[in-house]
This record gives sequence, structure tokens and C-alpha cells, in this order.
Amino acid sequence: MATQEMKIRIDQKTNYAELVLDVGRVTLGEENRKKMKDCQLRKKQNENILQAMIALLNSGGGVIKAEVENENYSYPKDGIGLDLESSIGNILPSVCKYLDFMQQGKYFLIFVKSWSSETSGLRIVTLRSNLYKRDVTCTNIMDATATLEFLADKNKSKGRSYRLKLPPKQDVQEESNVEALADDFFNRTQLRYREKLRFTESTHVEMKAFSTEKLLQRIKESLPQYVSAFSNTDGGYLFIGLNGDEVIGFKRKGNDLNKLASEIEKSIKKLPVYHFCKEKKEINYSCKFLEVYDEGHLCGYVCALKIEPFCCVVFAKKPESWHVEDKHVQQFTTDEWISNMLPANPDFSGSEKTIFQQRISSPIPYSRSVSNLENEQLRHHFPGMPQGKRYVPEALCEELFSQHKGLAQLICKEMGSVGPGTVIFSRSWSLLLGLQENQNVICDALLIAQGHPLVLYTFFRVLNKELTGYSLQAAFTLKHELVKMGGYTGKVCVVPKTFYLSEDPSTLTEDNASSFHDISAQIFYPESYNLETTQTVGYLNEVLYKA
Ligand SMILES: [Zn+2]
Repeated sequence: MATQEMKIRIDQKTNYAELVLDVGRVTLGEENRKKMKDCQLRKKQNENILQAMIALLNSGGGVIKAEVENENYSYPKDGIGLDLESSIGNILPSVCKYLDFMQQGKYFLIFVKSWSSETSGLRIVTLRSNLYKRDVTCTNIMDATATLEFLADKNKSKGRSYRLKLPPKQDVQEESNVEALADDFFNRTQLRYREKLRFTESTHVEMKAFSTEKLLQRIKESLPQYVSAFSNTDGGYLFIGLNGDEVIGFKRKGNDLNKLASEIEKSIKKLPVYHFCKEKKEINYSCKFLEVYDEGHLCGYVCALKIEPFCCVVFAKKPESWHVEDKHVQQFTTDEWISNMLPANPDFSGSEKTIFQQRISSPIPYSRSVSNLENEQLRHHFPGMPQGKRYVPEALCEELFSQHKGLAQLICKEMGSVGPGTVIFSRSWSLLLGLQENQNVICDALLIAQGHPLVLYTFFRVLNKELTGYSLQAAFTLKHELVKMGGYTGKVCVVPKTFYLSEDPSTLTEDNASSFHDISAQIFYPESYNLETTQTVGYLNEVLYKA
């Protein structure tokens, strides 16, 4: 299958007030995935799901939608597939804290909670940093923790000061001795075939013996990792043509040395770098070809690369992390990624929060004990109001309920089965959220109740299906503000529910005040998206009304 067909798309027609990423057709179930003949396809499906998951984690959460490729799939019976599970598990510290899986007919949905940085200190999730380091003789990619530490160090020192190179001591053998011997070796012009080496691999020395045939290809594949690792770990030497403890070399045949040198240069020039320093120097390296002689005859070459310590950060390629921007799943640029990895500027996020809270906290002052309070006044005027809920702001409710008789009845009916909670009315939640107002909206009401998802009710004075877009947008924005600005870290969704209330007083009865296009009837959330405890409810109230 062409990769183009497997691109991740944003589902624009969804009834969920969520970012829904469509990853196309995916084979699911442990047995089915094991049986897949096309390994490339399996890998691609896996990567697409990871990419969509990371993009949603980094963009306030959402839903991944996959069309199940295999027939007769049943999630409870077949499961997901070990390859998918383990690659997801490699990224998330706790899968169930972030993900919920749900099959809906031929679709498989993965609900993704927004990433929260509280425990790890990481503000975004990354598939691969593509930053390498040397761990004695190994070249390893930096994991999230190593990356964070490395970047914080570099940021603090604004381009690290180099380690001082002291001459090796006489009677002790340490890393610097290896490096000094490697440097002597680097400066030689002629070597003997099968000559024994006086040094071995170390933090600053790596040896490779690539076959003559695949030399160019292997260099292109591995060079970015070694250059990144040496650059990020105080520099070092890469020798190609040394095998274990002796000189082997490679044949010139088909390997034009100039071409090799220019490919190496191209490859190094291409590496993404990031500077914290003022100087912003390029990667400094030298490349030499040492001649190898066998009984006086030139029989091959050793390619010797010396990578100088680098002031700041060198990537093997762009870091692999995504987010949703301009209605597309996009890979972060290296600069964006670095600024997201570094600790947030407290002033900036502070001002963002204030704007949100000013907007949102204007309608009613919040008091901690509200959920148990009853509206005495309101109950007096509208005796049918169900117990255990509080309607705020009271003056607005009274006004709305007297103006629109059907509204109070409708609310009574809706709240009949709902547990304790608060219903927050507003002339326009959209306006509170900084969105466009709509003249056809009578009012909105947000339900925060235990055992329920958040529900955003919108009451329209006209019958118009297009208005559902309005309530979807408001619900979507509310969820994102709660998560991104309000800092709510639990699983949360806002279910939009729309009602039509006729303006004609003679026809205002419970029966004709109807849900004309109930989008909430078509969407299902995992149970964990219901507000479970009174603490959660209290916290949400607090997020909404933080003073
Ligand atoms: Zn620098």
C-alpha cells in the first residue's frame, strides 16, 4: 500500500467534540496481526497509530479512529495485538492512565487523554529524540529522561564549556590514554595490513569494519548516529577499516575516495543542530584516508574521522514528535521541539492562564460548598426542580426560567436521572470561551455531575441542524481550555447536547421543547470519562472558577 493512502487525516465530520484522527484501515487482534504477510504494512500501521497517539497527547487529547481491516473482529475476543501494545507501552508510563479502547462496529476508537507533565517533567511526548550519546563503547539514542537532562545542562551553560584535555598520566591507564593513542593513530599516514592496535574502543573511539561492497551505504546509514553521539559526548574518533584489534582496511575498488569524502561531508552538513550559544559554530571534523600496505604493496585504506567536541546539540535527524496544527498532523521543527522540551517560561503560561480565568470566572463567584446547596428561591418558584443540584447563577436562571416556561420543564426532565451536581447557565458559553456568539442561541448550560460526563446544553430558538456545529465548537473549545489552560489532568470530555425551544408562548410545553438533533445520542465515551468522585467534580469546579 502506498504511504500516501495511509496518511493521518483529521475527521471533520465527527460528532465528537474532539480532535478525531483517522488512521485508515488497520488490522487488529493478536492472531490477525501475527498472521500479516506484509511486514512493512504492519510496521506502517503501527507507526501511524503511534504518530496519531503522540500528536493527540501533545495537542490536548482526542480520539484515534481506525477502520478494522479484518472481518469478524471482536475487541473482547481478539484483543489489539502485541506489537501495537508493546510499542505503545514503550512511550507511555501507564497506558490505562492515558488510553481507552472501544470498538464501535467496524471502527476501533482509541481515546487519548492529554499529556500531563506533572510526574515526569516532560511537557511533550516524543517517539524518538534522535539525539545520540556514547555510553563507553556503545552509541545509544537518548531516552526521554536523558534528553531532558542533556538539554537542561546545555541550556544552563549556554553551550557547554569543554572538558579540559590533560596529557595522559604516566602510571595510570584511563580513557584519555585511549584517546591519545587514537590521536597518534589518526595522525599516521601509512598502516600495515593486520597490524595490531595498541588501543581499543572507548567513549571516544569507535571502530567499524564494513565490507568493501556496502561501504558507502553503511557509512550513510550509521554516520549520523556516530557524529551525533561523539558531538554530544565531547568528540571522538571513528575508524572504518579496523576489525577488533587489527588493521584490515577496505579496497578502493568502486570506492572513489573523493566521492566517499564528499558523501561524508554531505551527510554531516545535513545533520540538524541546535545552539544555545552565541557563536553558533558548525560541526567541526576532519576526514582522512590512511593507506594500508601489505608487504610493501598498497592493498587498501582506513577511513579515519575525527569529530571535534561540539558546543551545543547535534541530532542524527529531526526529532520524531508530532502535534496538530492548522488542521494537520505535523512534526515539530527542531526549534519548536527544543523549546517544548525545556521548562516553560513561567511568565508566559501564567499570563495565558489569567486570560482564561478572567473570561471564565466572570459570571459567578464560586463557593466551595455549592454542590450541596439548594436554590431556595428557585425551588420556591419552580417546585418541580429535582433535588441535589444547584442552578447558577441564580438570577439568570430565574430570568430564563420565567421567560421560557418550556426551559424549566425541560431541565427538570433532563436532570431527573442525574446525580448531585451543578448546572452553570450562561447567555452564551461561546462568548465566555472567546468564540463568536450566535443570535439563535437562547442560552447554554454546563452540567457538572458525579457519574456523568460534562454536558454542554445549548438551547436554540430556531430549528436548524447547522447550529449543531456551533455547539460542537463550544464543547470542543471548553474541553481544550480546561486541559490546556485550566490544567485539568484527568480524563475529561464535553458532550454537546442541543435543544430547540419554540418562542411562541402558546405552544410552550414540555412536549414541543425537543432535542431536534441530539448529537449526544450518537457518541459514546469510555466509562472513565464520567466524573467519578466528588473530588473530581470539586476540582473541575475549581478549575472553572479559580479565583
Ligand atoms: Zn553552540
